[in-house]
Amino acid sequence: MSYNAFFEKASRPFRNYPKLSTVLVIVTVVGSGKGLLAYSDAKEYNAIVSAPDFKKKKVVVLGTGWAGTSFLKQLKHPSYDIEIISPRNYFAFTPLLPSVTVGTVEARSIVEPIRKIVRKKGSNVVLQEAECLSIDPVNKKVNCRSTLNGKGEFSVEYDYLVIAMGAQSNTFNIPGVEENAHFLKEVEDALKIRRSITDCFEKAALSTFTDEERKKILHFVIVGGGPTGVEFAAELHDYVHDDLGRLYPTVKDFVKITLLEATDHILNMFDKRITEFAEKKFQRDGIDLKTGSMVTKVTDTEITTKALKNGGEVTSFPYGMMVWSTGIGTRPVIRDFMSKVGQANRRVLGTDEWLRVEGTRDIYALGDCATIVQRKVMEDITEIFQKADKDNSGTLTVKEMQEVVKDVLERYPQIEIYLKNKKMKSIVDLMKDTKGDAKKEAVELNIEEFRSALSEVDTQMKNLPPTAQVADQQGRYLADCFNRMDKCEKTPEGPIRIRQDGRHRFKPFRYKHLGQFAPLGGEQAAAQIPQLPGDGVSIGHSTQWLWYSAYASMQISARTRAVVVGDWIRRFMWGRDSSGI
Ligand code: FAD
Ligand code: MG
Repeated sequence: MSYNAFFEKASRPFRNYPKLSTVLVIVTVVGSGKGLLAYSDAKEYNAIVSAPDFKKKKVVVLGTGWAGTSFLKQLKHPSYDIEIISPRNYFAFTPLLPSVTVGTVEARSIVEPIRKIVRKKGSNVVLQEAECLSIDPVNKKVNCRSTLNGKGEFSVEYDYLVIAMGAQSNTFNIPGVEENAHFLKEVEDALKIRRSITDCFEKAALSTFTDEERKKILHFVIVGGGPTGVEFAAELHDYVHDDLGRLYPTVKDFVKITLLEATDHILNMFDKRITEFAEKKFQRDGIDLKTGSMVTKVTDTEITTKALKNGGEVTSFPYGMMVWSTGIGTRPVIRDFMSKVGQANRRVLGTDEWLRVEGTRDIYALGDCATIVQRKVMEDITEIFQKADKDNSGTLTVKEMQEVVKDVLERYPQIEIYLKNKKMKSIVDLMKDTKGDAKKEAVELNIEEFRSALSEVDTQMKNLPPTAQVADQQGRYLADCFNRMDKCEKTPEGPIRIRQDGRHRFKPFRYKHLGQFAPLGGEQAAAQIPQLPGDGVSIGHSTQWLWYSAYASMQISARTRAVVVGDWIRRFMWGRDSSGI
């Protein structure tokens, strides 16, 4: 059973009565799933690798984050040699990074060495701790440089390339941000923030500063009211309230936390009730929430903002420490690659629905470094009509449509979303709707009518969010395709090809949203989870328990699960450690 499926099952008992004992039972049981990932079919392995004309294909994986690691874990077929290129030799469970910034969880508790993860695959996995400098799609190789002062640059050839390099923090080129802000993307970032918070408190406690200076030093500013910014603000507030306030009684009253958000509300990707709850909680907690406020400049002592309303009022104020969390941008190495494959005008690297990089062969991209460019129905409308109109009559009957509808819905998921929003059961209802009062069975559309029936469906297309959930599912999906490459070559399982004959080899990638959490501090959280009863929105203390259970069950290994739970218990009992190490 997959971890996600398990999570769905595991979280069921928590919907109404979350209890610590149940959490611990789940945590323990999920831990036993660790060994499921090894490739076990020795017979099949031997048959494949001992065939006389057998030559292994080399798969190069760039990156060991969510997407790369999930791909590596699931890639089980023995016909590949795997080479991993990544500047870090570990996987990091990023959703717990905000907890690492204040020591709720320790850094080493959320990481797992990649060599340990791939150890079971045997000797055909090579890992080089290096960064990819450039990709050469013509000669099928990547140029790399060791991050360890090794022997300089080297190149690696591939048969298949899997790009999973993630993204970088986006500063929007606002002056001074790069130089003065903390980012929260990597484990090192979280550790720097933790150290910096301690330093601010120790500095403020020095007798050499005036109260005015202390106010400035202890002014913590968070830019960006998305889930990461909000979670960090909540963690920081709890840290100050629960731990630092007691340890630094003389300076605690100088502490101020400000959260700046350019739009009108924080957490605006969540349900309105969650946004409202979070905003009210932050106000009660004394977090200064400034919405509609855009940062325009940062120096080492001051932040300048411009109000998006009120005539664009410009304000500057001093700060002690700033964390920048306003979203992600494309890495330079990916930008360079995009220019080589005819994607220079795009903002993000584009793939098709099978995660193949557009304009290339044998190159796949997944996770935060790429986006799926969903095919529009209107681009293919003539071909869809021709494919469906089997008798070449120039009109489409209900029967003709029904024969291709499964394939069409699989290839263009936006149609299904459109039908659902319009409360229609099938595409036949749409055909009927176009013809006004025509009787269902008698409906027959010509090409123009068919075009008009589907003219609105493309408005339902949405880019997938840059989340671990998406990256993880894409990694699993791609590994599954690689595992069944030969089988699906012989018996393709995808939808019919609209512009050519035959079928696509695989089904296109389809994202399944399992829900999202927003921890709000004070042992309260908000969640929007489709599987929860009612409309899926849950807020409060019980949601925080659901969060604990979900995040424990999603850990990459039994070891990290145990140490993370251990850290939570340690924090409950003794608080967070504020030593400046
Ligand atoms: P990453 O996980 O960022 O991995 C990229 C990998 O590429 C890394 O191993 C990196 O070292 C490597 N790399 C970088 N440059 C190179 C190079 N030049 N050559 C080779 N390798 C390179 N998502 C959720 O779904 N839920 C959450 O609760 C959540 N919380 C988050 C909290 C924080 C603080 C952050 C920062 C993110 C959070 N996310 C969350 C988002 C999630 O972490 C990302 O969407 C996810 O990490 C994307 O996976 P990825 O594999 O594409 O990239
Ligand atoms: Mg016909």
